[in-house]
Amino acid sequence: MLKNTGIITSEELKPVLPPQNRLEKGPVAIIECLQDIPCDPCVSACPVKAIQMQSGITDRPQLDFETCTGCGACVPKCPGLAIFIVNMKHNVPGKALLSMSYELLPVPAKDQEVDALDRTGKFVCKAKVARVINPPAYDRTAVVTIEVPADRINDIRSIKV
Ligand code: SF4
Ligand code: SF4
Repeated sequence: MLKNTGIITSEELKPVLPPQNRLEKGPVAIIECLQDIPCDPCVSACPVKAIQMQSGITDRPQLDFETCTGCGACVPKCPGLAIFIVNMKHNVPGKALLSMSYELLPVPAKDQEVDALDRTGKFVCKAKVARVINPPAYDRTAVVTIEVPADRINDIRSIKV
């Protein structure tokens, strides 16, 4: 983490990013959870057991990129809003899809234009909302998918509506 900011550094990010050959296969999760906190709902949320904790609840989640299907079931279950789904196999050239939890109001609508922000809250670009999933089972944590420039997929991590 950058000192006193809680913001993940590029060095810390490397091990949690899926390898290129996995990205090319389609949607996959990125888990940016780097603190040893007593938390594990992501583990039980995954229907294919792609998330493991080696030595108990305070361990950091380890994601098996090959087992992960990118289904997104873990995203709204993470209280730290630390799980993202990236889809580099989007059918628009130069664009990719990024899904994230969103707990503020108003929840954006499909096709709405929002500001895409980096981890520090800095504006990166405008982005179109491609999908919003917000069923009662998600308990007011919507999962918002935005279309972003493919080369900024690892920079953008939140939105401003
Ligand atoms: S995206 Fe789906 S398959 Fe991948 S870790 Fe999350 S719940 Fe499991
Ligand atoms: S649910 Fe989220 S915050 Fe909790 S261990 Fe899993 S990734 Fe980390």
